[in-house]
This record gives sequence, structure tokens and C-alpha cells, in this order.
Amino acid sequence: MSLKGKNNSELKVAIIGGGFGGAAAAVALRSVGIKADLYEQAPVIGEVGAGIGMRPPTVEFFKDWGIYDAMVSKSSVSEYMEVVTGKGEVVFRERWPQLTDEPNARWSRLIHRADFIGTFLEHLPTESIHLDHKCKSVIDYGDYAVVQFEGDKTIEADLVIAADGIRSNIRSKFFSDAEPVYSGTHAYRAVIDKEDSFDIAPDNTFRVWVEGDVNVYVLPLHHRNQISFDVTVPSDDSSWAPEVETKDIVKHLTNFDPRIQKVAERINDYTCRALYDIDPVERWTSNSIALLGDAAHAMLHHQGQGANQAIQDAGALAEALRDADTIPQALQRYQARRKPVTDKYQELSRLNPSEENQTAFPEKETFERVAE
Ligand SMILES: Cc1cc2nc3c(=O)[nH]c(=O)nc-3n(C[C@H](O)[C@H](O)[C@H](O)COP(=O)(O)OP(=O)(O)OC[C@H]3O[C@@H](n4cnc5c(N)ncnc54)[C@H](O)[C@@H]3O)c2cc1C
Repeated sequence: MSLKGKNNSELKVAIIGGGFGGAAAAVALRSVGIKADLYEQAPVIGEVGAGIGMRPPTVEFFKDWGIYDAMVSKSSVSEYMEVVTGKGEVVFRERWPQLTDEPNARWSRLIHRADFIGTFLEHLPTESIHLDHKCKSVIDYGDYAVVQFEGDKTIEADLVIAADGIRSNIRSKFFSDAEPVYSGTHAYRAVIDKEDSFDIAPDNTFRVWVEGDVNVYVLPLHHRNQISFDVTVPSDDSSWAPEVETKDIVKHLTNFDPRIQKVAERINDYTCRALYDIDPVERWTSNSIALLGDAAHAMLHHQGQGANQAIQDAGALAEALRDADTIPQALQRYQARRKPVTDKYQELSRLNPSEENQTAFPEKETFERVAE
């Protein structure tokens, strides 16, 4: 199959942004013979120290991309999620939902963010990754686009994939100038050694400790002898990277199990972030530009889906480019396949886990394939 009269290998594709979405897109496109270039503004690509749950539809794509074994070797399976009170009483315990046609796929694979992004990058040729490349502007000429970087470098591409995150300049210029929406909450994240965890994660269950409007997410990374610890609290401070000290975090935890308090007190290197999302964007694509990941559909972290959806975008876009006759046709198919899913996750992700909820997985009803 060829697009624009060219073989896939001759297409020029520029991916802006080297987060999960951009890195996954580069790997996915290579699997269908498209050698995309990845442009990242930072001098190094990295992810904050925290864990993440890879869901079955995400992991399914890794088989096609030739990175399944590598991802599996760096992650461990969790079969259950629990919501517990601040004191640790179980509110509900549920199997992870089955989100694919595979009946045994009722799990989440837990991975450290650094291993996750590292695995994508290991599968890309070094010369295709361009660091210190901050995209200044994109000009859309209809059937191709020109990308200008700071420092006056310019490139031309048949397709520009904007994976430049929640504050995407490309989204604001071409698709929506609506500002990100502040959730009124902060997330404070850290990874600790298991031996310092006071046994708050004895097995592979992912637990959310809920007390009032404070949530503590405890995600085991036992394959690394580590635990990912994430405290979400209300705050009026909407600065993107708020400056918060350990004592400010611990004061939210007075009604929690003393072990949670002790863990929180001992951490002095939290990553602090104000939590924003965006409202659904009506259109993600022109004939030569496509939004992907948080740039298209940034969502809150309550369903643990933002990175998963970015990676699933990458898989859907690669398949659309593999199967379509033209780039515009592929982009239309990509948006038609993905946007209904991410619109729903954006909506559901605004729901906090709470003691009043009926389920840990509000997405189950919409996406689970087979009833119990
Ligand atoms: C507290 C918290 C917990 C979360 N937990 C989970 C979870 O458990 N599971 C899950 O699936 N998701 C989770 N997420 C969401 C997930 O982190 C994001 O959805 C995901 O990182 C988005 O990836 P992305 O590649 O689209 O964007 P980003 O990761 O934001 O990457 C964008 C990249 O583009 C680069 N960039 C930006 N502008 C330019 C430019 N002009 N030129 C060049 N490069 C540029 C940036 O430097 C960055 O590297 C969580 C998020 C938070 C905040």
C-alpha cells in the first residue's frame, strides 16, 4: 500500500514530542514501515519517578510492534484493585476489567515510567531521535506541512504528529484555543524502596486509600523491589509545578493509617504537579497534521488511562496509515476510531474514587467486552 504515491518508507513523518504518545507513535509507525523522526524540546527524554498500569488493549499493540517481551520483562501483573478507607478497611475489591476480546486479560501490568519510556526509545534508531528541538511553529500547506524549530531549523513533512502534551501549541493554533482546565487538585508522587514501605503493598494489588477528598494511590513495583506512592489533595494553587514541602503533604494524612503517614514523612523528593485536563476537542486532524495523546485528549489520572490512551492512539494511527489509500483518509479513520473512546475516558476521569462509588472501574460498563 502506498500513500501520496510514495512507499511508506519514503513518507516524511515528523513527531513533535517525546513523551509516551510520541515515542509510542515512532515505534508503531516503524512497525508498518514508516520511518518517522521524533523531535523533543528537552535535552533528554525522561519520565518522573512513578509507576503506571499498562492495560490489556495497550499491551496488545506491543505484540505487533515487536516490543512485547521487552515490556513484559520490565513489569509485573496486578489482578486486583482495591479502594480502602484511610484506615485501610476495604470498600471494594475488584478484578481489573476485561477491555479486550481476550477473556484472560483481566489484569494491569505495572511498570516504572522510566522503564516504560526507555523501552520505546531502545527500539528506535538513535538518529531518528532529535533532542533539543523545540517546535516554534507549524505551517499547514494542505498536503504537507513545514515545522520550524527554535534556532531556525526547518523541516518539511507529509504528516506532522503533534504529541506535544496538554499544553500543545499545535492544538491551540489549528484545532482549539480553549485553555486546560484546573481540577483544583495536586498530585505528589514518589517511588520508594519496598523495605521502607511499612508493608502497605504486601501483594500486587493496586490500592487507592480514600479519606474525604484526599486519595493515596499505592502501586506495587515488586519486580523492582519498589512501591509507587501518589498523594492527591485539593489545592487552590493552580501553578503547574507547585512548590510543596513534605510537611505540607503529611498534614493532609492525619486521618490515615499511621503507616501511610510514616511513608509520606520519610519521602523528601516528591514530584509535585497541579492536575489539569482539557475539554474534548472537536477535530484532531487536518490533511497533514494529527493530534495524539494528551495534546488531543488530556484527562485526569483517576482512571489511570492518559498514557494508555496515548499509546492506543499510536497503534490506531499506524494501522490507519497502513490500510488507507491517502493520508487524509487515514487521519479521518484514526479520529473516528479513537475520539469516541477518549471522549468517554475524559468524562469518566473527572470522577474521583470515593467511598460512595459503586465500582473502582466506572469504565467497565462502557468498555468491558464480556459480562461476568
Ligand atoms: C499524577 C498523574 C498520574 C498519572 N497516572 C497515569 C496512569 O496510571 N496511567 C496512565 O495511563 N496515565 C497516567 N497519567 C497520564 C499520563 O502521564 C499522560 O497522559 C501521558 O504522559 C501523556 O503522554 P503524551 O506523550 O501525550 O504527553 P507528554 O507526556 O506531556 O509528552 C509531551 C512531550 O512533548 C514535549 N514538547 C512539548 N512541547 C514541545 C515543543 N514545542 N517542541 C518539542 N517538544 C515539545 C514535552 O517536552 C514532552 O516530552 C498520569 C498523569 C498524572 C499527572
